[in-house]
Amino acid sequence: MQHFQVIVCGAGPVGLVAGLRLARAGIETLVIDKSPGVNEDFRASTFHPPTLEMLDELGLTQELMASGLEAPTWQIRRHESHDKALFDLSVLSGDTRYPFRLQCEQRVLTRLAHHQAQNTANLQLRYGVELTGLTQDERGVKVTVQTASGLQTLQARYLIAADGARSVCRKLTGMTFSGETYPETTILATTTYRFEDQLPELSQVNYVWCEQGTFSLLRLPELWRCSLYCDPDESVDQALEPQAIERKLQRIVPRGQPYEVLEIRPYRLHRRLIDDYRAGSVLFAGDAAHLTSPSGGMGMNGGVHDAFNLTDKLMAVLKQGASDELLNVYTRQRRPVAQDEILAQSHTNRMRMQRRDPVWRDAEMKRLQALIADPVTHRAHLLKSSMISGLAQAALVT
Ligand SMILES: Cc1cc2nc3c(=O)[nH]c(=O)nc-3n(C[C@H](O)[C@H](O)[C@H](O)COP(=O)(O)OP(=O)(O)OC[C@H]3O[C@@H](n4cnc5c(N)ncnc54)[C@H](O)[C@@H]3O)c2cc1C
Repeated sequence: MQHFQVIVCGAGPVGLVAGLRLARAGIETLVIDKSPGVNEDFRASTFHPPTLEMLDELGLTQELMASGLEAPTWQIRRHESHDKALFDLSVLSGDTRYPFRLQCEQRVLTRLAHHQAQNTANLQLRYGVELTGLTQDERGVKVTVQTASGLQTLQARYLIAADGARSVCRKLTGMTFSGETYPETTILATTTYRFEDQLPELSQVNYVWCEQGTFSLLRLPELWRCSLYCDPDESVDQALEPQAIERKLQRIVPRGQPYEVLEIRPYRLHRRLIDDYRAGSVLFAGDAAHLTSPSGGMGMNGGVHDAFNLTDKLMAVLKQGASDELLNVYTRQRRPVAQDEILAQSHTNRMRMQRRDPVWRDAEMKRLQALIADPVTHRAHLLKSSMISGLAQAALVT
């Protein structure tokens, strides 16, 4: 039976970052993923400043920046009037080396991390390996995996469960994942159309209120990513039809010709949190531990922050002889951040965009504009929404 110090289940962004970091610290690590190859999911597009600082340590930030776009501002706007609340991340220049959001696809990170893993000592990365069973004793974990050549058993002192929203590790350890699934489905559509030529003063990240509801426009180097929603009385299947997408895009900017739409994907949105980030020798990170609406772009970022926090502690335990009790601090530090910062802010962002009442929208716009006009509240808001204050809060917990 093969033995590792740490097995990481899941080679999404969180599992790969955790695996790279442990291996670079000299810890024998195996990362497994059930997919046949690198995770190319069409999901996250925003990296926040602290995540860029962390990924710098792994030598990934400059390459991400080369494949992405800096977003020095982001905004909430009224589509019809172009009235907006413009948040300017340059006010964080004393707080971070990266006072901007980076607009770059999650799959760029998984590809870069995958390539780096090929040349990292102490790290094995195996695809087509699905964890199906898990037992624990005082020496650690034994996992059963399904591979192309049949079932195998692997052993490790610790298992990082970075196996995403439907985490099998979570089910096998009996952990509860409390929360709710939101009623709406988000439909992501990407287009090469240059909205910036028609809509004045767009940022790279725009959350937009319009008379018919809401949409967002997130820019990536070669395209715009549009989050769209079903019209009243429209089913998700109907909303996914090309003509329904076309109709909604024409509402944003009416054109004399059809939009070039590259990709269309529906997503259900959730707000869920695991009860404990630790189940014996199994430690949860990323979507396996917390799920949130993408509004504000915090799920993957928060997962990378989990990976850094957890690997700091595993390094202390496995390399410096710290007590295993230290791993309990991981839950104490990261779960409140997920609950009070990541889930709470994402929920507020989602609610803000879903509310339709024009009187409420007017008042909210004025409130946000006043908040931005005051340098103290503007900076405080950006420290929170850029996930900096959550990390500072966690650092105070022992
Ligand atoms: C539309 C959308 C937009 C988003 N935008 C943002 C954003 O801008 N910013 C942001 O921070 N977040 C965003 N998110 C959230 C982000 O995509 C997730 O938080 C992120 O993918 C979580 O990474 P992860 O590594 O925890 O899990 P995943 O990316 O889900 O990876 C889990 C991996 O585990 C593997 N796996 C699962 N089960 C097993 C098993 N039994 N054995 C072996 N392998 C297994 C899977 O194959 C997968 O590769 C967005 C999400 C959506 C849906």
